[in-house]
Amino acid sequence: MKIVIITLSIALVCNLLGFIYSYTILYSKWFNNKRLQSIKYKPSDFWERLPLIGFNILLLILFTLGGMWPVKDYFTMEAPSVLTFIWQFAAFMLIDDVYFYFFHRYNHENKWLYKKIHRIHHKAFNPIPLEYLYVHPLEWMGGTVGIAATAALIGFTMGEINCWPFWAFALVRNLHELEIHSGLKSIFSQYIPFNGTTEHHDLHHAKLKGNYASTFSFWDKLFKTDLHIVDGKCRTKAQLDEMGQLQEEKAAA
Ligand SMILES: [Zn+2]
Ligand SMILES: [Zn+2]
Repeated sequence: MKIVIITLSIALVCNLLGFIYSYTILYSKWFNNKRLQSIKYKPSDFWERLPLIGFNILLLILFTLGGMWPVKDYFTMEAPSVLTFIWQFAAFMLIDDVYFYFFHRYNHENKWLYKKIHRIHHKAFNPIPLEYLYVHPLEWMGGTVGIAATAALIGFTMGEINCWPFWAFALVRNLHELEIHSGLKSIFSQYIPFNGTTEHHDLHHAKLKGNYASTFSFWDKLFKTDLHIVDGKCRTKAQLDEMGQLQEEKAAA
């Protein structure tokens, strides 16, 4: 029971911080010169979106209770060795993130899914922190598959999942989502190699394509979906390569 309560507390404290952070961005002038987009954010939009955000927090509570309770005996609170901490933390970060990349990309590439599900998140084209939770409930639930799969993988191969790397992952993942939806110039992210910065995700919200990764931007580089602004136009690396190839073919003809 303690394990489930601590997990829930991490999520709820992070989201409470997210609410305070969002409120401060909306109602103080402290961050005005840090905003990435010049479009002004209307506070009324945030209050209109808050019921869905609240509903998703309720789903988060129910999912954490329902998902962890039946497998709680697989979790241990024993202090992990450094090696256990590192590999289990890395497994959660990487598997969840690669899953998120493909899940998010598919939400854009499948027009039906985009129109019916993912478009809701993109109503926030100029987001503030807590709007990482402004998503269709089905998308929100679908996004948890990577975490459940990693926990199952560790649990079945090792016989137990150590809580400490799991909690560290939950904390980092949550705070990172708040930062990349802040709409403000990156504070910490820009100093961490391969980390998805606010600039990276904010451009995705502004252009509605490319830059699908969340925590690690290298997935976009690897699969050529990273966005570049060339001659005032925003294109993915794959589109730029294609254009370069066409120009070469024209020149050779
Ligand atoms: Zn998207
Ligand atoms: Zn987003």
